[in-house]
Amino acid sequence: MSPNDERSTRTLHSLLNSRRARVASLGVVAALAGTALFGVGQATAEHQPASGSSAPRTSDRDIPNIDKVKEKIAEYYGDIETPDGEHYASPKSDYAHQVRGIAADAQRDLKKALAKEDEKARHGDKPAIVVDVDDTTLLTYNFERQIGYNFDPKVQDEYLRTTDMDAVFGMKKLVNWADKSGITVFFLTGRAEHQRDWSVRNLENVGYKAPVDKKHFYLKDKENPPPYLECGSDCTTIEYKSGTRKHIESEGFKILGNFGDQFSDLKGGHAERRYKMPNPMYFLP
Ligand SMILES: [Mg+2]
Repeated sequence: MSPNDERSTRTLHSLLNSRRARVASLGVVAALAGTALFGVGQATAEHQPASGSSAPRTSDRDIPNIDKVKEKIAEYYGDIETPDGEHYASPKSDYAHQVRGIAADAQRDLKKALAKEDEKARHGDKPAIVVDVDDTTLLTYNFERQIGYNFDPKVQDEYLRTTDMDAVFGMKKLVNWADKSGITVFFLTGRAEHQRDWSVRNLENVGYKAPVDKKHFYLKDKENPPPYLECGSDCTTIEYKSGTRKHIESEGFKILGNFGDQFSDLKGGHAERRYKMPNPMYFLP
């Protein structure tokens, strides 16, 4: 679909219509800020505040062009289109190179950490890692393209029910290595509790070997939040994720590494190391 086709089926207004879409557009702005391609940072005299005014004015040149951003995202993922119109990331893409590098670095760190923990006899703590799902262990690129980066929970339900997402390059290897090496793997996602079975099916189908039973897979349960979350049904992402990590620690685990594609996956403590996975497609506060 060309950018023009896209424009004819979706106005900018509809694109920005949901809360997630608004933050998504901010995310791509942030991801591409500073690139010369869109003229960011090429301030001229016309960008300067008029004398007497307190704040500088925004020019359109300060805002990345949304169609150009989408093109850049497709390039980054090495977009591959199948004959039936599905889109996948290339294993040779810059994205694949970057995530494989993060996973390989993490495996080296975790090996060292495990050896250290053995020396100290671990004080009874069981080593663990926490991994997010979307864009940390499963890649949403095809889904995000289909929805035009404009999140809709109903469409997501239908997609998850019917379609498996690919594993994130390098992460299956890391998770399966950790599982075999005596590191307990916890999956922690903002996906809703009712999406559990679809998510388990997907993780298993693409080859994640660590257990994805209830004990090892935390989804967000707004209707019946667990008692250890003081924020109950109103948790922010940071509260929900850090509160769950605190709960995991309370069960005798030491979280050696925490992996997420959003900064809100990583803030709030309760992990020895944090690994930020790349994601230029959306931003979740
Ligand atoms: Mg995620």
